[in-house]
Amino acid sequence: MIKENLIKIKESIPENVTLVAVSKTKPIEDLQEAYNAGQRIFGENKIQEMVDKYDALPKDIKWHMIGHLQSNKVKYMAHFVDLIHGVDKFKTLVEINKQAKKHNRVINCLLQAKIAKEDTKFGFSFDEIETVLSTEKIAELQNINVVGFMGMATFTEDEVQVSEEFLSLKNFFDKLKAKNKFLKVLSMGMSGDYQLAIKNGSNMIRVGSSIFGNRNYNQ
Ligand SMILES: *Cc1c(COP(=O)(O)O)cnc(C)c1O
Repeated sequence: MIKENLIKIKESIPENVTLVAVSKTKPIEDLQEAYNAGQRIFGENKIQEMVDKYDALPKDIKWHMIGHLQSNKVKYMAHFVDLIHGVDKFKTLVEINKQAKKHNRVINCLLQAKIAKEDTKFGFSFDEIETVLSTEKIAELQNINVVGFMGMATFTEDEVQVSEEFLSLKNFFDKLKAKNKFLKVLSMGMSGDYQLAIKNGSNMIRVGSSIFGNRNYNQ
């Protein structure tokens, strides 16, 4: 089914939208099946799990870290990670920069914005993002590139609310893009809401269960 699911999703999204296949908790065979169907970008939310999969799978895969980051674990993925979605502290950027430098790499990062009205622990406010991007300290971090933002909408059936939350980040993204040409990626949308996210300006979606089926956390 994985191949069929991938084809269906790819057919339903515009060409400018990048599909990240979220493979957390799924076995290597499932990722290999998606790879054989042409998928090359995979998202994981635990660093150790991503490292194990990186070691086991073809090296032309681009690995995206989509989970909440613990600074002390950044070093384990610094040699290969392609894009880090969930940066929500300046301190984390400093650590990513330090680890990237050791490998002579520049690591692309997205700043996570808090857009959900529900109480979420993670993410910068829009004001905080403006501050981070305008601070002189960020120019000193030569081994990271902030290339865009990531946001998660409230988990609700209320499509109006979800749309509003996505649109708020799209508008903020457009505003900052005018001054910061390096902002290119807007990562919004998961299995349940990626169509709404795309309607509201997303150009990168992170889709797990619609490709791989429901996750089983009890295994
Ligand atoms: C798990 C996860 C996804 C994918 O969720 P699905 O509903 O299975 O598509 C997307 N983004 C983040 C940050 C996740 O943790």
